Amino acid sequence: MDCPVPALKHLALFGATGTIGDNTLDIVRAYPQYYRIAIMTAHQNSKKLIALALEFMPDHVVIANAQHYHEVRDALPATIIVSAGEDALVDAASLPYDMMISAIVGFSALRPTMEAIRHGRTIALANKECLVAAGTLFMDACAAYGATLLPIDSEHNAVFQLWHGVQNRPPHSVTLTASGGPFRTWSLEALYDATPQQAVAHPNWVMGAKISVDSATLMNKGLELIEARYMFNLEPSQLHVLVHPQSIVHCFIHYADGSHLAHMSNPDMRIPLAYAMHYPERLRLDLPPLDLVARGTLTFEAPDHTRFPALGLAFAAMREPSSAPIMLNAANEVAVEAFLGGAIGFMDIPAMIARILEQNAQHSVSSLDEVYEINHSIRIATKRLISQAS
Ligand code: NDP
Ligand code: MG
Repeated sequence: MDCPVPALKHLALFGATGTIGDNTLDIVRAYPQYYRIAIMTAHQNSKKLIALALEFMPDHVVIANAQHYHEVRDALPATIIVSAGEDALVDAASLPYDMMISAIVGFSALRPTMEAIRHGRTIALANKECLVAAGTLFMDACAAYGATLLPIDSEHNAVFQLWHGVQNRPPHSVTLTASGGPFRTWSLEALYDATPQQAVAHPNWVMGAKISVDSATLMNKGLELIEARYMFNLEPSQLHVLVHPQSIVHCFIHYADGSHLAHMSNPDMRIPLAYAMHYPERLRLDLPPLDLVARGTLTFEAPDHTRFPALGLAFAAMREPSSAPIMLNAANEVAVEAFLGGAIGFMDIPAMIARILEQNAQHSVSSLDEVYEINHSIRIATKRLISQAS
């Protein structure tokens, strides 16, 4: 039986110049009959934004760093509306489109994504930091405004797929897998000397610098636990992590009768992206098949909390009142940036976050304004800690 031909979907690609942006645009290139880019945004990579805008001819382009406005405006035809600045990013989220791909990195994605939620839009969510920080407020807003959330983060996309496959029967628990990152086999001593260059060289995935460092510390998995907690309304005790270096199994969902369902695919972000973009149908992707014989043995190990303390910090923050994940995320973003800039060492990242969580009392948060305030003050506090340390 033939599937109905889907209508052309107009996409708002927030974070077009990043690696999720690259993967999204690959799918759009392959299926121009299904997708059109209506809006694209970047932060400061004006050259790439201009090249992409000339290729995809969106209606609207936003450059968040206003210093690049004239360069982008002058390079594009008058038919493309160009705007600049953080507020322009939020305004663009309220323009007409069918689906937002939320792929800005970090907390900065929160305001435009919330704006899309307030307009009841369909959001394919790659960014995890906004859900970690705004948690229940974010999910309550989706319900209140009738917004649809489709996960792109591969593990969450895998949970979503499995959960639907069993007629939405809630599982007893969920296990997210982690590749273990580039330092999985390194000794604790060696980790103290790990360089930014080594940290961003992920063995299985090509990703932006921030998420690559998060994968190396295992904070990425910690953020994903919190993301899963809110996205799927699970208790902390229902969430587990297993290290699986081959990145073929992306998650397990477990049932009380002893059944364990796994989702498998090659590690390629186009697979979860296409699932979200084409949901509820499946898109044919011209990708290499999953060859389990060639892949050889699939292995699983428990995470090592001594060498990778960030994961334990996230587990603990998930059990604390709602200010804890905001603090964890803000301190992590600042510490990762400082590590990438050479100001602190690799093991200082979890150490700084632990200090911030110890020094600041946790409390529950009931408004988005509070989320922004805590994010702001913790960023300042973490920067102060870093400058005191160096
Ligand atoms: P990249 O660093 O590759 O790209 C980030 C994008 O966000 C770029 O377009 C960048 O613009 C833009 N950006 C950065 N800072 C700002 C800002 N302050 N305001 C507006 N735009 C900004 O990141 P990734 O594509 O790897 O990841 C994006 C998100 O998706 C992250 O939250 C990550 O955790 C999540 N994710 C990524 C996966 C992956 O495989 N990459 C997998 C699962 C989740 P510019 O280029 O101009 O700086
Ligand atoms: Mg992931």
